[in-house]
Amino acid sequence: MAVETAAYAEQTDIQRDITEMVRQFADEQIIPNAEKYDHEDSFPKPIVEQMKELGLFGVTIPEEYGGMGLDLTTYAMIVEELSRGWISISGVVNTHFIGSYLLMKFGTEEQKQYFLPKMATGEIRAAFSLSEPEVGSDVQGIKATAKKGDDGAWELNGQKMWVTNGLGSGVVFVLMKSDPKADPPYKGMTCFITEKEPWKEVNEGDFAGLDVPPKIKKMGYKGVESTELVYDGYRCPPERVLGGEEAGVGQGFVQMMDALEVGRVNVAARGVGIGQRALELALRYSQERKTFGKPIAAHQAIQFKLADMATQLEAARLVTRKAARMKDAGERSDLEAGMAKLLASETGKFCVEESFRIHGGYGYSKEYEIERLYRDAPLLLIGEGTSEIQRMVIGKKLLQRHKI
Ligand SMILES: Cc1cc2nc3c(=O)[nH]c(=O)nc-3n(C[C@H](O)[C@H](O)[C@H](O)COP(=O)(O)OP(=O)(O)OC[C@H]3O[C@@H](n4cnc5c(N)ncnc54)[C@H](O)[C@@H]3O)c2cc1C
Repeated sequence: MAVETAAYAEQTDIQRDITEMVRQFADEQIIPNAEKYDHEDSFPKPIVEQMKELGLFGVTIPEEYGGMGLDLTTYAMIVEELSRGWISISGVVNTHFIGSYLLMKFGTEEQKQYFLPKMATGEIRAAFSLSEPEVGSDVQGIKATAKKGDDGAWELNGQKMWVTNGLGSGVVFVLMKSDPKADPPYKGMTCFITEKEPWKEVNEGDFAGLDVPPKIKKMGYKGVESTELVYDGYRCPPERVLGGEEAGVGQGFVQMMDALEVGRVNVAARGVGIGQRALELALRYSQERKTFGKPIAAHQAIQFKLADMATQLEAARLVTRKAARMKDAGERSDLEAGMAKLLASETGKFCVEESFRIHGGYGYSKEYEIERLYRDAPLLLIGEGTSEIQRMVIGKKLLQRHKI
């Protein structure tokens, strides 16, 4: 059941058509099957295959490279609908989207020609790797290294952590320390485009030296794998430095932070999507369940919960779309992307918890969808920068913009 609460009148015809198509896909293919894949913690291959057919891996990739050439705003609307179905499905495309953004903005023509057409169809999927066992928020503290060898190739060594799509991806955009002496450290970091064999735990031949340990066991966000990556003497040719050696060495931190800005809009859209689903479930259950002789929806305390959920959700949706539109218009949107990520991820969690409470004891049962949402929602508070980090970004940007 889809409950219409969103102001879709603001959408263009293309946005409305594609949103409706993805919403139907979520209703028919994702929601009915999510419980099975969540329970098994298995990769939802049939759903992903259908997403390839729908072109969802190439939404923002330009048409000349085989994609749809749509903007971030439209992409955010699609992500909202996919996440309304199951956030793990949006996780399958999220790092891929960030990888294609990096290529489109910073890649050499050769890199674009080589990767983007295969990425647009989903033939290969991309992962994005900053985090390490000892480093998440403080990206400048990464330890993994890249050292240039006599033959011109770069040798990559070190351990990466929490790589979404770490096993199934065919290419990983990875941040490495290429100049350990650089001060400040971010000036000595480079992004490498590391190819690998999808679904192979131990890579061989050209990709030897990149191993994928068993996937990390998680409370939620199942189905899409999160893994460590071990680079141990992996040889990366110089033409696989993002943007080419001349333009790219030492630019990795700046490139990755730029990509995180669009990534934050994307996580915000996921918060709106999961919150929307939680609201729908609450609206339905509260009209079905009776206490004290009437549906619980007739109790004012429950109506207040529904009202707060819908109101916060609408605000989160609007700020998410504003951040996306500003980015599409070429405006600075770091502040707005941070606000959108903070508000929408917290709103998603809030709506899920309120919906869970409305479900009473049944919310605690695996028979009900809200139980899965309750395990999935907290991820959004962490990934792509925690709420604390968003507040730091917002505070810093505010002071920069309003310096006296
Ligand atoms: C399921 C999942 C998927 C992920 N996917 C990816 C991926 O694909 N690629 C990738 O690179 N990473 C990924 N991550 C990692 C994620 O980005 C990090 O977990 C996140 O950035 C937080 O880093 P951390 O876990 O090291 O926490 P820490 O940085 O250790 O932070 C711990 C706590 O301290 C707080 N904190 C830290 N610094 C400050 C400060 N200065 N002031 C106030 N509070 C502070 C944080 O907000 C947090 O509450 C994923 C994580 C998860 C759980």
